[in-house]
Amino acid sequence: DPRIARISSAIRVIPDFPKPGIMFQDITTMLLDTKAFKDTIDLFVERYRDKNISVVAGVEARGFIFGPPIALAIGAKFVPMRKPNKLPGEVISEEYSLEYGTDKMEMHVGAVEAGERALVIDDLIATGGTLCAAVKLLERVGVNVVECACVIELLGLKGRERLGDRPLFVLVNAT
Ligand code: IMP
Repeated sequence: DPRIARISSAIRVIPDFPKPGIMFQDITTMLLDTKAFKDTIDLFVERYRDKNISVVAGVEARGFIFGPPIALAIGAKFVPMRKPNKLPGEVISEEYSLEYGTDKMEMHVGAVEAGERALVIDDLIATGGTLCAAVKLLERVGVNVVECACVIELLGLKGRERLGDRPLFVLVNAT
């Protein structure tokens, strides 16, 4: 798709952020390019509009940028998957491992019902731990995760393998 090249070149890479040795993929520059941002949303909407998806689950923080416009366009609800102690109501939580230590992801009880069909979205997949935690939260309450989607996949970290059989759709590959 010719739109992919423009999206890819609008993403900025910042070396040594947040730590030395990390090449940070910064999507904020893509949001400044109105065509690239719209193309990004359109590509996801075209893929998911006829898939009977009732919930778009966005992973904090950058899943909150891409998830809502997709949800509105395909007629699905939006559910935020948040860092711990941010959601005010009753939550279920899922712990996951980081490079050093662990983190937690939370979702409001009652936001989704068993049998719903979900798309899980974030800006980027690296090791897959974050996306996997979101998938597990939804599956624990009986939701069918139809697909995970990211703007960027960092290759070489086997994040895709961590998702097992669940399909992953990405627009741009990076190393
Ligand atoms: P994972 O859990 O190792 O797959 O890491 C993915 C999570 O870390 C996502 O929520 C991303 O937003 C964030 N992340 C990791 N590396 C980058 C990056 O280079 N740019 C933007 N986000 C990143």
